[in-house]
Amino acid sequence: MAPPVSVPEAKPAGAPGVEGTPKTRAKTPFLLDFFPLETADQTRLYRFYERLREGRLSTTRCSHDGELHWPPRTACPTCHTEELDWVDLPEGGHIYAFSAVLAGAPLGMETEVPFAVGLVDLDGAPLRLFGRIEGRPWTELGIGQPVRVEAYDIGDGRFFYRFRTVD
Ligand SMILES: [Zn+2]
Repeated sequence: MAPPVSVPEAKPAGAPGVEGTPKTRAKTPFLLDFFPLETADQTRLYRFYERLREGRLSTTRCSHDGELHWPPRTACPTCHTEELDWVDLPEGGHIYAFSAVLAGAPLGMETEVPFAVGLVDLDGAPLRLFGRIEGRPWTELGIGQPVRVEAYDIGDGRFFYRFRTVD
C-alpha cells in the first residue's frame, strides 16, 4: 500500500498566497496539478502541446484505418498500430451542453469561480470535446451557441485549450 501523501490544505479564495489570475497561478502539488505534463521527456503526446503553443488544436488519425481519435493517442485503439498522423482540427464549434462550476473548483482555480465548462461539437469533425468556455458569463450561454477554440497560457510554460464564445 502506498504511504499517505501529505498535501497542503487549500486556502480559501482571496486568501494571501492564492493568486487570482492564470499568469501568476500558485504552483500546486504535483498530484493535484489539473493540467498534464507536456514536454517530450514527459509524454509521448508532446506534439499535441507543441501545436497548441502555435495556436493549433490537433489530434491523431490512424494511418491504417483512418480513425480520428480524441483525445490524441500514442496507438490506435482499434488496430493498435503506433503509425499515427497528426492532423489539425477545426477551430469552430457549437455548444452541445454546458454547466457552471460554482464551488469545488480544482486547486489553483478557486478564485476563478463561477466559470463555465461544457461539451462542444467541432464544426466539420465528428468530435465532441470537453473544456472551459470563456467569453460570457455562464448565465448567458446557450445550447448551439458558436464558439472557437483558443490556446490558453497556463502561465508556467504549459498551454491548454479553451473555448471562447463568438459574437
Ligand atoms: Zn487503426
